[in-house]
Amino acid sequence: MRILIYWFRNDLRLADNPAFTRACLNADHLLPVYIHDSKEQGTVYGFERQGPHRKIFLRASLDDLKAQLQAQGSDLLEFSGKPSQVLLQLLQDTAANAIYCEQIEAPEEIEQVRILQDQGADVKEFWQSSMLDPQTFPFELEKMPDVFTAFRRELEKVKLKFAQPIDVPKKIPSLPAALPPASILPSRTQAVSHPYLLGGASHAHAHLKQYLERRLPDSYKVTRNQLIGMDYSSKFSAWLALGCISARDIAAQLNEYENCHGANDGTYWLWFELLWRDYFRFIHFKYGQKLYRASGLTGIPVSPSYVFSFEQWRTGNTGTELVDAGMRELHQSGYLSNRMRQIVASYWIYDMKGDWRAGAAWFESQLIDYDVYSNQGNWLYIAGRGTDPRGGRPFNIAKQTQDHDPKEIYRKLWLSPE
Ligand code: FAD
Repeated sequence: MRILIYWFRNDLRLADNPAFTRACLNADHLLPVYIHDSKEQGTVYGFERQGPHRKIFLRASLDDLKAQLQAQGSDLLEFSGKPSQVLLQLLQDTAANAIYCEQIEAPEEIEQVRILQDQGADVKEFWQSSMLDPQTFPFELEKMPDVFTAFRRELEKVKLKFAQPIDVPKKIPSLPAALPPASILPSRTQAVSHPYLLGGASHAHAHLKQYLERRLPDSYKVTRNQLIGMDYSSKFSAWLALGCISARDIAAQLNEYENCHGANDGTYWLWFELLWRDYFRFIHFKYGQKLYRASGLTGIPVSPSYVFSFEQWRTGNTGTELVDAGMRELHQSGYLSNRMRQIVASYWIYDMKGDWRAGAAWFESQLIDYDVYSNQGNWLYIAGRGTDPRGGRPFNIAKQTQDHDPKEIYRKLWLSPE
């Protein structure tokens, strides 16, 4: 009798989830769990590591996952605590043989697995959060090109394609007889989690479907730098971050779209952005912990963060209107366009001389699409401590304001009292 625990991490889906499918195939009884990590509660900067928008989006995504598991006779049990401790206790309580989960190649997540393994737990990890399969690359990840353009060109040269997504497992093994009491009893989220978006796999697939049906990829390249609205960019990010939908699934549907309507600049640019997402994942295999040093991959020291200026930036009270509008949008909605993310990050690093890590921590707390690889990677990039050949990206705020908000519409939207 083989009992397995499936530990859902940032892969809150049943479709195209090879790790979960493998667990289903190998288990007689399967216990699907999610652990709310107690480390999420605080940061050294005094705010929650997981802010309210992220919590709501996560809650909705977990409810959706739970409903899908229940529809197949299984369930999702939620716990709260230190993942390694919770899982070790669960292994004992259920007499499970092993834990299956997706692999996350970031320091804290690597450490969680290492502790489990040190305690003798059998943990099977599967890499599955990228669009492309690194096993098919023409280079080893440890030797991947540092610069994104070189990375992309090498992959384009060999015409590398995403792997085909796989279906929801045909059968999910029943729960083990000895079930521990879940420490968290979820309540179904009725509230809309976000002005634009709802968590969970069902909403992710519905959103992708309408995005393609409305032919929005065609205009993506032209609209992607806009600041206001639902359609200027794909808004896939929050679902991708929690794994409600896989990047391969999006890639496969985009591929079908191109077969049906033809490839164009817009569809190519979406591939291009999804490749950035992969790039920031893979660079972790090469540099690991180094990406988490204050100096990143360089020897440049960080300037100390001044509490007062950080508060000004964080709360949208710097006196620079475009920046303040962006920071208020972020705080009020949990989302910010890519253009505004670049502008406010640059302003914090170069104009306010702030510590990029404090900025990254605030984004982590606020963004519903917080993703450890993309957040770390983009902040390092703008701070010139990552792999950017130009050594940093200071933005000229006056020019950005003129280019992207010439009629003051965005600034008025977020700065005027409600
Ligand atoms: P689209 O423009 O429609 O792009 C499609 C998809 O491509 C996105 O969903 C995303 O998965 C990927 N993508 C696009 N741009 C990037 C990029 N620069 N880097 C990596 N992937 C990209 N993205 C996150 O998902 N999580 C984060 O925590 C995050 N933090 C960021 C921090 C900073 C300082 C900056 C400048 C960017 C950050 N990004 C992050 C990248 C990017 O801003 C968002 O992915 C994008 O704005 C999400 O909106 P969208 O889904 O409509 O993107």
